[in-house]
Amino acid sequence: MALNRSMHPRNRYKDKPPDFAYLASKYPDFQRHVHTSLAGRAVVNFKEPEAVRALTCTLLREDFGLTIEIPLERLIPTVPLRLNYIHWVEDLTDGQKQPRRGIDIGTGASCIYPLLGATMNGWYFLATEVDDICFDYATKNVEQNKLSDLVKVVKVPQKTLLMDALKEETEIVYDFCMCNPPFFANQLEAKGVNSRNSRRPPPSSVNTGGVTEIMAEGGELEFVKRIIHDSLQLKKRLRWYSCMLGKKCSLTPLKEELRKQGVPKVTQTEFCQGRTMRWALAWSFYEDVAVPSPPSKKRKLEKTRKPLSFTVPEAGVKELLDKAAGGSGPQDGVAALLEKTLTDLKVLHKRVPSRNPEQTSLFLTAVENTWIHGRQKRREQTRQLRELPRAPHCAAATSSPPPATKGRNTEAKGASAKEPGDGGERAEASEEAAGEDMEAPACTEPQQGEEPPSPTPTQHFLFKCLLNVLPEEADVVVVEMHWVEGQNKDLMNQLCMYLKNTLLKSVSKT
Ligand code: SAH
Repeated sequence: MALNRSMHPRNRYKDKPPDFAYLASKYPDFQRHVHTSLAGRAVVNFKEPEAVRALTCTLLREDFGLTIEIPLERLIPTVPLRLNYIHWVEDLTDGQKQPRRGIDIGTGASCIYPLLGATMNGWYFLATEVDDICFDYATKNVEQNKLSDLVKVVKVPQKTLLMDALKEETEIVYDFCMCNPPFFANQLEAKGVNSRNSRRPPPSSVNTGGVTEIMAEGGELEFVKRIIHDSLQLKKRLRWYSCMLGKKCSLTPLKEELRKQGVPKVTQTEFCQGRTMRWALAWSFYEDVAVPSPPSKKRKLEKTRKPLSFTVPEAGVKELLDKAAGGSGPQDGVAALLEKTLTDLKVLHKRVPSRNPEQTSLFLTAVENTWIHGRQKRREQTRQLRELPRAPHCAAATSSPPPATKGRNTEAKGASAKEPGDGGERAEASEEAAGEDMEAPACTEPQQGEEPPSPTPTQHFLFKCLLNVLPEEADVVVVEMHWVEGQNKDLMNQLCMYLKNTLLKSVSKT
């Protein structure tokens, strides 16, 4: 799944999603929640809270040696997202003394941040919680993992965030606080009714969590504002204050608040995993802290260097190869199909010589955005088909669109796998729509070399790019698109997705 590529570089699941089949063979409790997809892959249904819980407990056990218990009626954390946050806190506090001392505001029943931070880095934690059930479970989870020397769980009143928790300890300077706040202002928001796009498909995974866990008066915005106000009094008692956000739109007002209050150091990041994105904000009253640069900038830089690319799998390439008349390699069949698609789209294209004899290169000049219309048209057709009453005997089964997003299983591995990200708990902010067809394509290092002149002296164009089709190992073919010039790289991204979808569709038809 696309977003996993943007996971924190140290996240152990970044290039290695959990192997569901292996975990199922080792853990019978997990095995009960693993099914086999039509393609023969081990899959987990993220709409089932029991399955999400089983996966979380299994990953904590297998990868961190942690044994935890969590009730189904409380928030079930997903491990890759929590790890992304832990790694960011490592970045924020990099260069500080060891071990570090932190506060987890609202630790939840799992007590996941303190357990991970203590196990991975030997960090000390003060973990706060308002909810009785969460407090009891968190305390037990710390004890049964023998981490009571590092983690102290305290019950706090609802109105308290940092002030009361620190009342008794007037001396200690904490290195950081972290918080995964209750995200929603009310029940409707929790159900996604206020989601920024009402046409979004339903979330791909279940939204677990009790009332105090997922709802706070005023939602996450007010909750974090309260932390900001506490921080204005506590100032240098903590080196870094940080908070995760379920909605990107919370960033701007919170940064504005910090600016108004004259907070000297502010930074932000995004956590990408599975099909879900989260954001986080951190601020400090210390002038000397090193501020890690936001990843969005890093990603933009990467985008300028790297081509977009996608892979056509072995099976499909074989079919195309059979079709390609007189072709010299598997890339020829793919190139021929791409050329036909580009002609249909009225994107100007011309084969250009390439230094690598195995590679086919096309120089593209896009004058008009024809691909987005096609996509919208197809979506509209699909929607209409979906809304048609179904005949009792589905004679036209082959032309039926696949069911929408409901009840989707998530596969563990492979090209088409939807990875076991953090779909669940903050469903309202899930990046489903983005994931559907606009996922950021995989990036590979650019090939040195050719940048041919435009074959057509087009005056008005949207963008120009070089498309390379090159065989990888076995019969796998990679399609790369290198940006040359134009208005907006998103357009090339869109065309890349269009070509990928068309190619993979025609391959699956053969
Ligand atoms: N940190 C956990 C749980 C996050 S849910 C995780 O990431 O999975 C938010 C938690 O904050 C809930 O457990 C809720 O009970 C708790 N909470 C809500 N208001 C709080 C407050 N004022 N102080 C401390 N915890 C609070």
